[in-house]
Amino acid sequence: MSIQTLSPPISPTGAEVIQHLKSICKQFPQYCKLLRFDQSDEGRPLEGIVITEKSVPKKIKQHCLIIGGRHGNEESGRIQALGIIDYLVSAAAKKTREQQCVIILPNMNPDGAAQDIYKRPDGVNVCNDYADKNPCPETRAYLKVIEMYPPDAVVDLHARGFTGHSHDMVIHPGTRDYTQDHVIMAEVVKDMVKAGEAAGAIHISHPMTWDGWVSDSPVEQCYRNFKSLCVLTESAESNSHSRTLAQRKKIGVARIKALLKHGNKRHPQSHFSGYPYNCVLGLSNLAVVPYGNDARARRRSRTEIWTQSKHFTALGSGGLEEANIKRAKLSYAGKAIGSGIGLQVRMTGKRRLKSITINGKPVSNKNAISTWKDDSSTFVVVFIKNLKPDTYNFEFHFT
Ligand SMILES: [Zn+2]
Repeated sequence: MSIQTLSPPISPTGAEVIQHLKSICKQFPQYCKLLRFDQSDEGRPLEGIVITEKSVPKKIKQHCLIIGGRHGNEESGRIQALGIIDYLVSAAAKKTREQQCVIILPNMNPDGAAQDIYKRPDGVNVCNDYADKNPCPETRAYLKVIEMYPPDAVVDLHARGFTGHSHDMVIHPGTRDYTQDHVIMAEVVKDMVKAGEAAGAIHISHPMTWDGWVSDSPVEQCYRNFKSLCVLTESAESNSHSRTLAQRKKIGVARIKALLKHGNKRHPQSHFSGYPYNCVLGLSNLAVVPYGNDARARRRSRTEIWTQSKHFTALGSGGLEEANIKRAKLSYAGKAIGSGIGLQVRMTGKRRLKSITINGKPVSNKNAISTWKDDSSTFVVVFIKNLKPDTYNFEFHFT
């Protein structure tokens, strides 16, 4: 059997990536915006692309960030990023363009890619130095992007070198205890794995963190700071015995498309559409959820609740549940949450909500309540536009 040996730079090269971005922006100006950042330390261009339906208001859209090529010798990430760009400008991606703003950084280590090495030539691991005083240009580009487009979902595209035709991976940061996140993540991972396996690779998946192992990659940083739904994928690759680049692209694109679908629909346990990490604190039966009329407002609320989470000193049952009454208690001791919160409860059976009281006072504004049903229960969310430090006792009365 002949062994194919490749010498750097390996396709897609930095020049090929830039050429692809420019060509797409020229062909589809109605969807695309080129992002230009400071050059790499060796003078290579560092660019990205935003793809969205420009005629649809930005404020209603989910933000999905796709990062490729942080490790220079993992060309699968670069080709998959280019593949998803091609998909996003196609007719098939119309709904995604209307509902999401997808930001793609396809080649986040151009100097490493030029030499086919893992880190940058100076040994810096791109995007793991963001806490440094002077992060590298690639990390500065990433930091600028998450400031411009605080992400609702993030996918970081990697490859497992010298692993040939073996398994691919969908992995994710460990999720916070007593949240709905591990359940939601399992749903998303299952869909991504199913799509990747249908496209031709077997997969394994697991959390990225365990006792004694510490990492600080973009997916962990975005979960910690924005409560973004974050995953990292690994494609089996090798410079000799690999699936072809076209096969690795197809598998990676299938996985990302499965993730993007979650940003276009409403999770059955959420009061709005979009990526489903929406029980910010607590579980679906009793949770603090985002407030706001559009994606931008809810993102702000989610981030504020999340970053103030340690000041929520109680979130639990407010007394015994009765046949027609659900009670909840929330204590908050932090600074006021000006972007608001929702308090979500789930009551057994298909019910009609009769009234809500907070600390004995009726909630009268119908706009301050959202209700919906699934096969077995009734969900209610009551909104507080500006949460001040206090203890709140809720009663939900049903008929
Ligand atoms: Zn990697």
